[in-house]
Amino acid sequence: MHDCDDYTDDVASLESELLTLARQYSFRGRIDKTTFSGPVLVSAKGSIVTDIRGKEYLDFNSGQACAALGHNHPRIVEAIHQACSSMLHSHSSIYNLQEIRLATKLAAIMPDPLRKSLFGESGSDANELAILVARLFTGGKDVFSPHVSYHGLSSGSRSITFAGWRRNHGPLASDAHAILAPYCYRCPLAANFPSCDFACLRTSFELIDAQSSAQPAAVITETLFSAGGVINPPAGWLARLRKMCADRGMLLILDEEQTGLGKLGTMFGFERDNIVPDIVTLAKHFGGGVGVSSMTTSAQIEETVVEAGLTVTRSHSNDPLLCAAGLASLEVVEAEDVPARSRSIGELLLSHLWRLADKFELIGDVRGCGSLIGIELVLDRETKEPAYVEGQQITQYCLDRGLIFSSRRNGSVLRFMPPSTTTPAQIDQAMETLQNALAMSRPMARTN
Ligand code: PMP
Repeated sequence: MHDCDDYTDDVASLESELLTLARQYSFRGRIDKTTFSGPVLVSAKGSIVTDIRGKEYLDFNSGQACAALGHNHPRIVEAIHQACSSMLHSHSSIYNLQEIRLATKLAAIMPDPLRKSLFGESGSDANELAILVARLFTGGKDVFSPHVSYHGLSSGSRSITFAGWRRNHGPLASDAHAILAPYCYRCPLAANFPSCDFACLRTSFELIDAQSSAQPAAVITETLFSAGGVINPPAGWLARLRKMCADRGMLLILDEEQTGLGKLGTMFGFERDNIVPDIVTLAKHFGGGVGVSSMTTSAQIEETVVEAGLTVTRSHSNDPLLCAAGLASLEVVEAEDVPARSRSIGELLLSHLWRLADKFELIGDVRGCGSLIGIELVLDRETKEPAYVEGQQITQYCLDRGLIFSSRRNGSVLRFMPPSTTTPAQIDQAMETLQNALAMSRPMARTN
């Protein structure tokens, strides 16, 4: 019988005991890891997580992007405590106090006509629900998403995730299709912005029009493609997409699960193009580390789909614990002006990264917005051959030296998304570690 709480004095052997238990009992198949290696994390505060050995790490991945308000934020912790002494779980079909308060607050933050919200537990379930709503409202089936998108790994959300993680995971929905993403650094049409006049969108919709045998239902997209490689659409892309959907009676669903609530320096990513979508989904740092998601749409759409018989209850839909955490996270975003914090974190990060790009040829592109920033590594700036191995090695080097971030696009894009609690000194420290890693990898890139 094993008990992980049987701590020994020797932390190194404790870690190895835990990893032995993980090898025996923990299921792998995780997005960034298939090995049984350390660290083993035990605690977190603000921008720092600590492992079983007591070693601290700067968490520039914000956990799984859900601790963007800082780990264990006191306001979130307080809301959880309050829910523990009032009500954790509730009947899904009877209104509860916390869900009404949260829906009211979200309606105040979102632009007109986005007024009606339903709450779930994960980003995937909110996106699946949004698609269901779009299908019922339009009477259509086909849904489209850019080819670098990530909307979750449940069966329904994986069907509209095109950034990867699909092969051998079928069957996936046959009425979900990829369109061309505005990946300007590697434009699939070899065009140049702005002279291309959004050729990616024009081509994609030409194909949608040519293929559709019935009313298409919706386009779902992130407002900045995070897991697909920190790909930031050029200004105007979202507005053009909005118009092209509306022209065809298709709904526009914006997955703001990573980009909303201040991450890009505005409350929502869609503000950057001054548009209002038909449906918005939130998750990730909504809840400040507690799993809660939302799907918000207009009263008109809600009325139509409920009349059509939409039923969406899950065991934990609208639970008071989740909604209390959601409400607390919105209060933090406003009280601490998280959009402004994201802007200043991003400015400092970008200035470091541009400096490193001057120094290291391996950095082919520096991009992002707010506190969601990435660099793309290439072996040659002309051919743009991706530096997969180098990216993976740099990521591991930094992890070993106390800096956590994730690599995407098979290692060639390094993604930094520090929590809003991150100080300038912590950013300087992280960038020094990255600089050392880049210095170490330079000869390797040349000889490979
Ligand atoms: N949409 C986006 C933009 C995401 O980044 C993620 C998670 N990485 C999801 C959806 C899926 O959320 P979940 O893992 O909570 O289902």
